[in-house]
Amino acid sequence: MRRILVLLASFLLFSILAAGQAPTRIAIRAARLIDGKSEKPLENPLILIEKDRIVSVTAGGNAPPSVEVVDLLNATVLPGFIDVHTHVLVQGDASSEEYDAQLLKQSIPYRAILAARNAQIALSHGFTAIRDLETEGAMYADVDVKKAIANAEVPGPRMQVATRAMSPTGMYPLLGYSWELKLPTGVEYVDGVDGARKAVREQVMYGADWIKYYSDRREYFEADGRLRSSVNFTDEEAKAIVEEAHRLGKKVASHAIGSDGIAAALRAGVDTIEHGDGLTDQLMDEMVRRNVYWVPTLTVDHSFPTGDADTAEFFKKTFALQKANFAKAMQKGVKIALGSDAGGFDWKKFSQAKEFEYYVQNGMTPMQAIRAGTSVAAELLGWSGTAGTVEAGKWADIVAVSGDPLQDITELQKVKFVMKAGVIFKDELRK
Ligand SMILES: [Zn+2]
Repeated sequence: MRRILVLLASFLLFSILAAGQAPTRIAIRAARLIDGKSEKPLENPLILIEKDRIVSVTAGGNAPPSVEVVDLLNATVLPGFIDVHTHVLVQGDASSEEYDAQLLKQSIPYRAILAARNAQIALSHGFTAIRDLETEGAMYADVDVKKAIANAEVPGPRMQVATRAMSPTGMYPLLGYSWELKLPTGVEYVDGVDGARKAVREQVMYGADWIKYYSDRREYFEADGRLRSSVNFTDEEAKAIVEEAHRLGKKVASHAIGSDGIAAALRAGVDTIEHGDGLTDQLMDEMVRRNVYWVPTLTVDHSFPTGDADTAEFFKKTFALQKANFAKAMQKGVKIALGSDAGGFDWKKFSQAKEFEYYVQNGMTPMQAIRAGTSVAAELLGWSGTAGTVEAGKWADIVAVSGDPLQDITELQKVKFVMKAGVIFKDELRK
């Protein structure tokens, strides 16, 4: 009898998963809730969910009769994680050989299949929303992955996508091949003010939620410790990109590593600085003044092979600068949103939730790190009204871990339960 009941229960769960639809009403009980905004966890929460939304969150209490209760009684429940810097179309590109091989030997359909798999990996690691920041030569395939997930054809996080990204001609790979060969490029080459406006219109036409451009390249350390770089676009071109994107209601993310690239991006009026290793006091003040977010992407930096002495030395200096800048940025009130650059490292190797761990190593409290990857990230996406916290009215995007992440932040790399839009996608807590 018991066996039959278990089978029936798993059949029911399977049916729900297969249909991709939430049961009408469900309740979650847990040991504690970290809701993404409060200073302290809530003990013994009861979260009531109706369809894809959270209806109420209370301390204790009982679920109304006839509501299915999901008991996660030893677990900590959190909002679904949000990573605002990913590349689902990329499978790790630490070396130029790996990168070139993906663009030259894999078709875009093949890359899109792997992207759907990567999206599923992200969801299983607790990431219920991502901002995917360019396809690296896979054109507009991120729009297709986003659509397939939104239509519940494949499981994955909610997505905002940047499509192709931009750099001026010759300032982004593939480079160094014979001029006789017609090769793909990792970005759309964009030149001149008119070219910039046209490229923005084209990318928006094909589904870009964000415009991304590469502000700089060839970063290097000065003797005085400043991280400098070569700026890619003229100020007029960069301003045209940002102005046109904003005119069409889209925000702009800028890859900027050296202080020169960050300064140029801020002059152009971008909304987010990606990487931002070369931040200075003055640039941080400017970011606060303009309400620009910093997306540090520490996981990808720590995953680079540092076999040769020059690379090892470069990253040693970079890590020291990042740590010093983290303390200053938090003190000044720069908004830091969690971005791992997953895809820059292999999705299969480890969870992108490692990014939380690096933020704590760089001086955030576990609670601050959790907010960077939930409510602050939701704010960056313009989804504060629906995502980033566990509160009445929000999407029922909820994860759980068996330990206490306030004691050990690495718990977030071992997500055991994932619900997105009221549908359970992973459940390893109830055996
Ligand atoms: Zn990236």
